[in-house]
Amino acid sequence: MFRLKATLFGLALAGLGAATASDALAQSKPTIGIAMPTKSSARWIDDGNNMVKVLKERGYGTDLQYAEDDIPNQLSQVENMVTKGAKVLVIAAIDGTTLSDVLKQAKAQGITVIAYDRLIRGTPNVDYYATFDNFQVGVLQAQSIENALGLKEGKGPFNIELFGGSPDDNNAYFFYDGAMSVLKPYIDSGKLVVASGQMGMDKVATLRWDGATAQARMDNLLSAFYGKKRVDAVLSPYDGLSIGIISSLKGVGYGSKEQPMPFVSGQDAEVPSIKAMLRGEQYSTIFKDTRDLAKVTADMVDAVLSKKDVTVNDTKTYNNGVKVVPSYLLKPVVVDKTNWEKVLIDSGYYKRAQFD
Ligand code: BGC
Repeated sequence: MFRLKATLFGLALAGLGAATASDALAQSKPTIGIAMPTKSSARWIDDGNNMVKVLKERGYGTDLQYAEDDIPNQLSQVENMVTKGAKVLVIAAIDGTTLSDVLKQAKAQGITVIAYDRLIRGTPNVDYYATFDNFQVGVLQAQSIENALGLKEGKGPFNIELFGGSPDDNNAYFFYDGAMSVLKPYIDSGKLVVASGQMGMDKVATLRWDGATAQARMDNLLSAFYGKKRVDAVLSPYDGLSIGIISSLKGVGYGSKEQPMPFVSGQDAEVPSIKAMLRGEQYSTIFKDTRDLAKVTADMVDAVLSKKDVTVNDTKTYNNGVKVVPSYLLKPVVVDKTNWEKVLIDSGYYKRAQFD
């Protein structure tokens, strides 16, 4: 009996040994903490999956956490990563200003911090920033509206309403400023009219990028300012807001032959929004290839941990209030009905069947 027990114990140990050895083989490098904001938007799910895939392929362990847009939740997730001994933190912050204390602790433990997609503000303890050219995102959104309306050809005047992203997300200001760099001259010349008069991030921001909030604001704008007028375009910085805006517009009769949809922009090329584009409801979106962002971020991790120079391509733009954070900016791509298959299907990002 004793011998049997001992044998079983031995077998169990051997099994354990085997598992540990193969794990160690697969994960020969340290664990990287990855903090993502929310699973409520497909882009962040893709970001998390791509980060884990690339880091695992390179032999790292990964600790991926989603915080469902709850700031204290994200804070405790990052605290946990620090306690468990992550060597690098990759963080897409919910609110770019709320992580200072935990990052101080991370720095004290020699942990490198990479801000992922969204800048972390108000702390010296962020080392690198991997993102897309956020100003250019706004430029592309506005240019697609400019082209759709024929503004360059002198057409107009047209009515437009403006939406901004979350005021606690640094990106939202870059998107808005980029868009206004294109739209403002037309507003000044009277070719574009913001019938509500609501301009500036203090008036047009949408807390936590919430689609329902955007929908409610669009409802109010339509009933207060568009009794007899038509809205011709809506600057929307994110697909999730565009969905809310479009359902508000449909609610008052837009989307028919007599009352066509205004040109509505977007961002992230999420599947439901591409479908809305194919139905003629949304006009355009911005594709940001999260596979590339994962790769650039993993390259940063590799360089940091092998004590090599980290490749960046921008050392001027992203001042976080304490320092300029060295950044790598990827190129966003505008997508509309004319190029969506080339950009999204031919590149293998989505499968054709997702749109049948
Ligand atoms: C990202 C966008 C995204 C938005 C809402 C921003 O920080 O850069 O791609 O649309 O957050 O999730």
